[in-house]
Amino acid sequence: MTDFAFTPGPVPSVAVTGSSQRFPVHRIYCVGRNYADHAQEMGTDPKSDPPVFFTKPPDAVTATGASVPMPPRTANFHYEIELVVAIGGGGARIKAADALGHVFGYAVGIDLTRRDLQQAAKKRGEPWDVGKAFDHSAPIGAIRPVARGHVASGRMWLKVNNEIRQQTDLANMIWSVPEIIAELSSLFDLQPGDLIFTGTPAGVGPLRPGDRIEGGIDGLEGLATTIVARA
Ligand code: MN
Repeated sequence: MTDFAFTPGPVPSVAVTGSSQRFPVHRIYCVGRNYADHAQEMGTDPKSDPPVFFTKPPDAVTATGASVPMPPRTANFHYEIELVVAIGGGGARIKAADALGHVFGYAVGIDLTRRDLQQAAKKRGEPWDVGKAFDHSAPIGAIRPVARGHVASGRMWLKVNNEIRQQTDLANMIWSVPEIIAELSSLFDLQPGDLIFTGTPAGVGPLRPGDRIEGGIDGLEGLATTIVARA
Protein backbone atom coordinates (compact mmCIF):
# COMPACT_ATOMS: atom_id res chain seq x y z
CA MET A 1 0.00 0.00 0.00
CA THR A 2 1.24 3.50 -0.84
CA ASP A 3 2.44 5.45 2.17
CA PHE A 4 0.74 8.83 1.66
CA ALA A 5 1.71 11.82 3.80
CA PHE A 6 -1.97 12.11 4.77
CA THR A 7 -5.14 10.19 3.92
CA PRO A 8 -6.33 11.23 0.41
CA GLY A 9 -9.94 12.41 0.02
CA PRO A 10 -12.64 10.20 -1.49
CA VAL A 11 -12.74 9.60 -5.27
CA PRO A 12 -15.39 11.97 -6.73
CA SER A 13 -18.16 9.88 -8.31
CA VAL A 14 -21.60 10.01 -9.91
CA ALA A 15 -24.62 7.68 -9.51
CA VAL A 16 -25.45 5.29 -12.38
CA THR A 17 -29.10 4.69 -13.32
CA GLY A 18 -30.24 1.16 -12.44
CA SER A 19 -26.99 0.21 -10.69
CA SER A 20 -25.50 0.30 -7.20
CA GLN A 21 -22.09 0.98 -8.78
CA ARG A 22 -20.89 4.59 -9.08
CA PHE A 23 -18.97 6.23 -11.97
CA PRO A 24 -15.56 7.42 -10.70
CA VAL A 25 -14.70 10.85 -12.11
CA HIS A 26 -11.26 11.34 -13.66
CA ARG A 27 -11.54 14.82 -15.25
CA ILE A 28 -14.30 17.25 -16.20
CA TYR A 29 -14.05 18.87 -19.65
CA CYS A 30 -16.54 21.51 -20.79
CA VAL A 31 -17.42 22.92 -24.21
CA GLY A 32 -18.16 26.63 -24.57
CA ARG A 33 -20.33 28.15 -27.32
CA ASN A 34 -22.01 25.01 -28.64
CA TYR A 35 -25.46 26.51 -29.27
CA ALA A 36 -25.82 29.45 -31.68
CA ASP A 37 -28.46 31.24 -29.53
CA HIS A 38 -26.23 31.20 -26.42
CA ALA A 39 -23.13 32.34 -28.39
CA GLN A 40 -25.22 35.26 -29.62
CA GLU A 41 -26.45 36.21 -26.12
CA MET A 42 -22.78 36.18 -25.00
CA GLY A 43 -21.92 38.56 -27.85
CA THR A 44 -19.93 36.20 -30.08
CA ASP A 45 -20.51 35.02 -33.63
CA PRO A 46 -21.25 31.28 -33.51
CA LYS A 47 -20.03 30.78 -37.08
CA SER A 48 -16.61 32.41 -36.76
CA ASP A 49 -15.81 31.12 -33.24
CA PRO A 50 -15.27 27.37 -32.87
CA PRO A 51 -16.32 25.91 -29.49
CA VAL A 52 -13.74 26.39 -26.75
CA PHE A 53 -12.74 23.82 -24.14
CA PHE A 54 -12.20 24.49 -20.45
CA THR A 55 -12.09 22.25 -17.37
CA LYS A 56 -13.45 21.93 -13.86
CA PRO A 57 -11.83 19.89 -11.08
CA PRO A 58 -13.30 16.37 -10.62
CA ASP A 59 -14.46 17.19 -7.08
CA ALA A 60 -16.71 19.98 -8.45
CA VAL A 61 -19.38 17.29 -9.06
CA THR A 62 -22.39 17.73 -6.77
CA ALA A 63 -25.10 15.06 -6.68
CA THR A 64 -28.70 15.83 -7.54
CA GLY A 65 -30.62 16.52 -4.35
CA ALA A 66 -27.62 18.10 -2.61
CA SER A 67 -27.71 21.86 -2.14
CA VAL A 68 -25.12 24.23 -3.64
CA PRO A 69 -23.63 26.90 -1.38
CA MET A 70 -23.58 30.37 -2.96
CA PRO A 71 -19.97 30.74 -4.14
CA PRO A 72 -17.92 33.65 -2.81
CA ARG A 73 -16.91 36.82 -4.70
CA THR A 74 -19.63 36.90 -7.34
CA ALA A 75 -22.55 39.26 -7.92
CA ASN A 76 -23.69 37.39 -11.05
CA PHE A 77 -23.91 33.64 -10.38
CA HIS A 78 -25.41 31.80 -13.40
CA TYR A 79 -26.93 28.41 -14.29
CA GLU A 80 -26.20 26.63 -17.63
CA ILE A 81 -28.12 23.39 -18.35
CA GLU A 82 -26.04 20.88 -20.37
CA LEU A 83 -25.96 17.30 -21.69
CA VAL A 84 -23.05 15.50 -20.01
CA VAL A 85 -21.21 12.67 -21.78
CA ALA A 86 -19.49 10.12 -19.52
CA ILE A 87 -16.45 8.43 -21.08
CA GLY A 88 -15.99 4.70 -20.41
CA GLY A 89 -13.20 3.92 -22.88
CA GLY A 90 -10.17 6.17 -23.16
CA GLY A 91 -8.14 7.08 -26.23
CA ALA A 92 -6.29 9.72 -28.21
CA ARG A 93 -7.10 10.95 -31.74
CA ILE A 94 -10.46 9.16 -31.67
CA LYS A 95 -12.27 9.37 -35.03
CA ALA A 96 -15.79 10.81 -34.92
CA ALA A 97 -17.04 7.61 -36.55
CA ASP A 98 -15.66 5.57 -33.62
CA ALA A 99 -16.44 8.08 -30.86
CA LEU A 100 -19.72 6.66 -29.56
CA GLY A 101 -17.94 3.39 -28.75
CA HIS A 102 -16.01 5.29 -26.05
CA VAL A 103 -19.16 6.56 -24.28
CA PHE A 104 -20.26 4.99 -20.96
CA GLY A 105 -23.47 6.98 -20.68
CA TYR A 106 -25.24 10.34 -20.49
CA ALA A 107 -26.45 12.64 -17.71
CA VAL A 108 -28.03 16.03 -17.07
CA GLY A 109 -25.57 18.59 -15.69
CA ILE A 110 -25.40 22.26 -14.77
CA ASP A 111 -22.27 24.30 -15.55
CA LEU A 112 -22.49 26.82 -12.70
CA THR A 113 -20.64 30.00 -13.59
CA ARG A 114 -19.45 33.15 -11.80
CA ARG A 115 -20.37 35.16 -14.91
CA ASP A 116 -18.86 38.43 -13.67
CA LEU A 117 -15.48 36.78 -13.04
CA GLN A 118 -15.65 34.92 -16.38
CA GLN A 119 -16.48 38.11 -18.30
CA ALA A 120 -13.64 40.01 -16.57
CA ALA A 121 -11.22 37.20 -17.48
CA LYS A 122 -12.41 37.21 -21.11
CA LYS A 123 -11.91 40.95 -21.33
CA ARG A 124 -8.35 40.72 -20.01
CA GLY A 125 -7.46 37.57 -21.99
CA GLU A 126 -7.00 35.64 -18.74
CA PRO A 127 -7.90 31.99 -17.96
CA TRP A 128 -11.52 31.19 -17.00
CA ASP A 129 -10.77 29.10 -13.90
CA VAL A 130 -12.10 31.53 -11.29
CA GLY A 131 -15.32 31.91 -13.29
CA LYS A 132 -15.88 28.22 -13.98
CA ALA A 133 -13.82 25.85 -11.82
CA PHE A 134 -14.97 26.67 -8.27
CA ASP A 135 -16.27 24.31 -5.57
CA HIS A 136 -19.70 22.69 -6.25
CA SER A 137 -19.71 24.14 -9.80
CA ALA A 138 -20.84 20.90 -11.49
CA PRO A 139 -24.22 19.58 -10.23
CA ILE A 140 -25.02 16.35 -12.09
CA GLY A 141 -27.82 13.77 -12.24
CA ALA A 142 -27.43 10.00 -12.52
CA ILE A 143 -25.61 8.68 -15.60
CA ARG A 144 -27.79 6.55 -17.91
CA PRO A 145 -25.63 3.78 -19.44
CA VAL A 146 -25.47 3.48 -23.26
CA ALA A 147 -27.16 0.07 -23.07
CA ARG A 148 -30.34 2.20 -22.97
CA GLY A 149 -29.33 4.10 -26.11
CA HIS A 150 -27.27 7.09 -27.23
CA VAL A 151 -28.53 10.67 -26.94
CA ALA A 152 -28.39 12.98 -29.98
CA SER A 153 -31.74 14.78 -29.83
CA GLY A 154 -34.59 15.43 -27.43
CA ARG A 155 -35.81 18.28 -25.27
CA MET A 156 -33.48 19.81 -22.66
CA TRP A 157 -34.88 22.33 -20.16
CA LEU A 158 -34.10 24.18 -16.94
CA LYS A 159 -36.49 25.76 -14.44
CA VAL A 160 -35.72 28.21 -11.63
CA ASN A 161 -38.42 28.35 -8.94
CA ASN A 162 -40.71 26.42 -11.30
CA GLU A 163 -40.35 28.89 -14.22
CA ILE A 164 -38.82 27.73 -17.50
CA ARG A 165 -35.58 29.63 -18.20
CA GLN A 166 -33.80 27.46 -20.77
CA GLN A 167 -35.28 25.16 -23.38
CA THR A 168 -33.86 23.63 -26.55
CA ASP A 169 -33.54 20.42 -28.52
CA LEU A 170 -30.16 18.70 -28.33
CA ALA A 171 -30.21 18.54 -32.13
CA ASN A 172 -29.36 22.29 -32.00
CA MET A 173 -25.80 21.59 -30.79
CA ILE A 174 -23.26 23.11 -33.21
CA TRP A 175 -20.78 20.31 -32.55
CA SER A 176 -22.30 16.84 -32.08
CA VAL A 177 -21.14 14.45 -29.35
CA PRO A 178 -18.94 12.42 -31.79
CA GLU A 179 -17.37 15.64 -33.14
CA ILE A 180 -16.67 16.90 -29.60
CA ILE A 181 -15.00 13.59 -28.62
CA ALA A 182 -12.89 13.62 -31.82
CA GLU A 183 -11.71 17.20 -31.26
CA LEU A 184 -11.15 16.85 -27.50
CA SER A 185 -9.18 13.62 -27.92
CA SER A 186 -6.85 15.38 -30.37
CA LEU A 187 -5.91 17.72 -27.50
CA PHE A 188 -6.00 15.37 -24.48
CA ASP A 189 -5.71 11.61 -23.90
CA LEU A 190 -9.25 10.76 -22.82
CA GLN A 191 -9.53 8.35 -19.88
CA PRO A 192 -12.33 6.23 -18.45
CA GLY A 193 -14.04 8.47 -15.89
CA ASP A 194 -13.85 11.67 -17.92
CA LEU A 195 -17.02 13.78 -18.07
CA ILE A 196 -17.74 16.19 -20.93
CA PHE A 197 -20.23 19.04 -20.39
CA THR A 198 -21.38 19.79 -23.96
CA GLY A 199 -22.53 23.42 -23.77
CA THR A 200 -25.70 25.36 -23.00
CA PRO A 201 -28.45 27.06 -25.04
CA ALA A 202 -29.74 30.62 -24.56
CA GLY A 203 -31.52 31.80 -21.44
CA VAL A 204 -28.70 31.74 -18.87
CA GLY A 205 -29.34 33.96 -15.89
CA PRO A 206 -28.66 34.75 -12.24
CA LEU A 207 -29.22 32.65 -9.10
CA ARG A 208 -29.67 33.68 -5.46
CA PRO A 209 -29.76 31.79 -2.17
CA GLY A 210 -33.15 30.09 -1.86
CA ASP A 211 -33.52 29.47 -5.60
CA ARG A 212 -34.64 25.96 -6.56
CA ILE A 213 -33.21 24.68 -9.87
CA GLU A 214 -34.60 21.72 -11.80
CA GLY A 215 -33.27 20.42 -15.10
CA GLY A 216 -34.08 17.60 -17.47
CA ILE A 217 -33.35 15.91 -20.76
CA ASP A 218 -35.83 13.51 -22.43
CA GLY A 219 -35.10 9.96 -21.31
CA LEU A 220 -32.52 10.84 -18.63
CA GLU A 221 -32.97 11.13 -14.87
CA GLY A 222 -33.67 14.71 -13.81
CA LEU A 223 -31.53 17.00 -11.70
CA ALA A 224 -32.64 19.25 -8.83
CA THR A 225 -30.70 21.44 -6.44
CA THR A 226 -31.23 24.45 -4.19
CA ILE A 227 -28.85 27.37 -3.79
CA VAL A 228 -28.15 28.05 -0.11
CA ALA A 229 -26.33 30.85 1.69
CA ARG A 230 -22.69 30.08 2.26
CA ALA A 231 -21.98 28.98 5.83
MN1 MN B 1 -21.30 25.84 -20.18
